[in-house]
Amino acid sequence: MNFSIKTFTIIIVIFLALNSFISNAKNRGIFNENRNDCFMNASTQAISHINELRTFYNKFKESAHSPNFENHKPMQVLFNYLNELEKEEPSPISGSKKFRAYWVNNFTTMKNFKTGQHDAQEFISSVFDILNNEFNKYLTEASENITQNPISTFKLQIKKTITCNHCGYVRSIDEPGYLLPLTILYGPLSDLKHCNDLTCCLKNFFEPTVMNDWTCDNCRQKNARRLKTISFLPKYLVIQLKRFIYGGIANKLDDAIKFDPIIEIDSDIIDQSIKEKYHNKNFSYKLLTFICHEGGPSGGHYWAYGKDSNNNWYKYDDSNVTSITPTILIDILNQTKEIGTPYVLFYELDEKTLFSHERVHQQLTQLKSSLQELKTRLETLRKKLEILKSKL
Ligand SMILES: [Zn+2]
Repeated sequence: MNFSIKTFTIIIVIFLALNSFISNAKNRGIFNENRNDCFMNASTQAISHINELRTFYNKFKESAHSPNFENHKPMQVLFNYLNELEKEEPSPISGSKKFRAYWVNNFTTMKNFKTGQHDAQEFISSVFDILNNEFNKYLTEASENITQNPISTFKLQIKKTITCNHCGYVRSIDEPGYLLPLTILYGPLSDLKHCNDLTCCLKNFFEPTVMNDWTCDNCRQKNARRLKTISFLPKYLVIQLKRFIYGGIANKLDDAIKFDPIIEIDSDIIDQSIKEKYHNKNFSYKLLTFICHEGGPSGGHYWAYGKDSNNNWYKYDDSNVTSITPTILIDILNQTKEIGTPYVLFYELDEKTLFSHERVHQQLTQLKSSLQELKTRLETLRKKLEILKSKL
C-alpha cells in the first residue's frame, strides 16, 4: 500500500515536471536587455504566432535553389530570432539589445527606436515595411515554390466612397495598410462618447459620415456623404485600438474594451467587388494573439498573449511565460478584472467557418428557443414552489 502511494506520488511529480517542461518548451520568453524593450518583445512574440512566416521559412529551407539568405539580411535577422523562440529549451532567449540595434542602425525609418520605450504598433508597422520590401526583392530571385510574400497576408484595403449630395458625383479612394486603426471615442467633439467594446469601435469606423466641408469635383458645391467599405480582406486582420493621443498634451485612454475571440465582419461593410467572390457571406476572424499595455503615453509596460496550435493560451511578459487558463482568458476578453488594456489585436481569417455561417446561425436560433423554453419551465416550477411554501 505504502509502496503504491509512493510510486503514485513519484509518477505524479515526474508527470508534472515533464508536463511543465513540455508546455514551456516552445514558449520561451525574451530577456528585456535594455530595460525598455518590452514594446519590442511583446511585438516579436505576437509576430511569432503568424504561421505564414513559419511556412515561408520552412519552404525556404526545403528549396535547394533559393538565393542566398545572407543577401537578405532583414529576413535572416527576423527568422534567426524567431527560430530561437521556437527552440525546445525552457530558458528565455537573449539578444533583444542586438535585435533592436540591427533595425536602428540599418534603417533610417527606425532611428527613433534607438533608446527608450516606444509604441508597439509603430514598431510592427516599421518592421513590416522593411520586410515587405525585402520579401519582394527576394521573390524576384526565388524559385517557383516560394511565391507568396508573407507580409501581403496582412494587406487590408479600405475603400472610401464619397458621394455628392447635390449632383450624385462619386469619388472613391482605396487606402491600403497593414492594420485597422479604430478609435475608442466617437460622436461630436462637444459630446464625445466612449466605446466599451470592439463591436462599438468597429461600428463607428464604418458608420457613414456627413462631409460638410468637402467640395464636389463636378458641381463645386459642398455637402457630401462618405461610406467606408473593405475592398481587400487580409488573412491576418490586425486591429489597433487608438489609445494614445499625442495632439496637445499627450494622453492615453485606459478604457476597458471588451473583445470577442471570434469577430464577424458583416457583409454590409464588404465592398461589392469582393463580396461576390465569397458568395456574399459574412467573414469570421479568430483571435490569434494580442498585445496589452499598462501605463501612460510616455512609459508603461507591454506584454502579449498568444494561442499555440493546440489552442492553449500563454502570457508573454518579457522573460516570463505563463500558461493562461480559459477562465483567465474570459476575464481578459470581458475586461472584468484590472488585467491591462488590450492595444493591438491579431485575428486570423477562419476559412472553415466562411461557408458554414448559415449553419451556425441555425444552431444559435435553436439554442435561443431551447433557452426560452427552459426559462418558462423554471418560472412554472418557481410558482409551484411558492404555492407549496404558502401551504406549509
Ligand atoms: Zn456635385
